Amino acid sequence: MNLEGLKPIVEGLGVVGSPLVMAGPCSAETEEQTLSTARQLAMSGVKVFRAGIWKPRTKPGGFEGIGKEGLQWLRRVKEETGMLVATEVATRRHVEEALEAGIDILWIGARTSANPFAVQEISDALKESGADVAVLVKNPVNPDLELWIGALERIYNAGIRRLGAIHRGFSFYGKSIYRNPPQWHIPIELHRRLPDLPIVCDPSHMGGKRELIAPLSQQALDMKFTGLMIECHCSPDEAWSDKNQQITPEIFKIILSSLVLRNSEQNTESLQALRQQIDRIDTELLDLYNKRMQVSREIGKYKKEHSMPVVQENRYDDLIKSRVSAAVQMGMSADFMKTVLQAIHEESVRQQIEILNQN
Ligand code: PEP
Ligand code: MN
Repeated sequence: MNLEGLKPIVEGLGVVGSPLVMAGPCSAETEEQTLSTARQLAMSGVKVFRAGIWKPRTKPGGFEGIGKEGLQWLRRVKEETGMLVATEVATRRHVEEALEAGIDILWIGARTSANPFAVQEISDALKESGADVAVLVKNPVNPDLELWIGALERIYNAGIRRLGAIHRGFSFYGKSIYRNPPQWHIPIELHRRLPDLPIVCDPSHMGGKRELIAPLSQQALDMKFTGLMIECHCSPDEAWSDKNQQITPEIFKIILSSLVLRNSEQNTESLQALRQQIDRIDTELLDLYNKRMQVSREIGKYKKEHSMPVVQENRYDDLIKSRVSAAVQMGMSADFMKTVLQAIHEESVRQQIEILNQN
């Protein structure tokens, strides 16, 4: 599928030197909180104001959004500040009410984009409305690129041409410094598959804490994301949802001015030489992987002849520990080395099982 005829989410933003920055509270809570946050953000030059009206909460009993009433507050934000306004939709009714209130940008949340029935319902409502509204599709909670692309296609097929994606990280089980760890290779692959599609980063839901917003935003800009969506609240400590990750408009302004925009039009001659080095090193790596797999297959034959099991836990544990500690001493991260070794090990096991099954 290639998405022909896409139009910018917002004219003039999301191009080199002018990222598309959207900011605003996780939830619109009161008219006062919504307008006060919006006024401060408008003064920092923000062009798109976000606020959740209907909130998908993991557990019942939390604040589930102010509902339809809040749409009128967003309308006031638009009238008073001139900013465009964005909110999350998850059902046909949300789409209809948001469009009726003149919302400019709709986004589909991570829990909703994981559900094709819900995305189809939203797409049908959009198609029936015929509105030229912008729609941003957050990555599904699970790291499934096809599901993400499927959701984008449904919205595109409904006639939406102001279409974009948002990388907000993925759910996981266990410990992490992130609330929803990013998996950058997934939006990178999305960009390779759909080069014209704008991709925004949401460092707030990714990091889940204030101090991760600046570094994640910089990382996203360095990776040429189209823009950022950042949660800001006039008094974050009192926010009714996601308070740990919301920042004040003042802090937002400081972060925004500290971000470095790389100029991708720069001369790439010296980069060329470095890229050639990378190409050579990759060729050597491929050769080494191949040699390693050959040895691994020899081991497989030996194990078969001696009726030994393919996986030997102790050996695997020792191997991971020694390589990871060596990698850390060289300045690489333990997580990175573990991921590489696990992938190599899985392929070795697969090849050895293949040998075991040969006659
Ligand atoms: C949000 O943007 O407020 C939100 C609920 O995000 P996500 O769907 O990424 O959790
Ligand atoms: Mn939120």
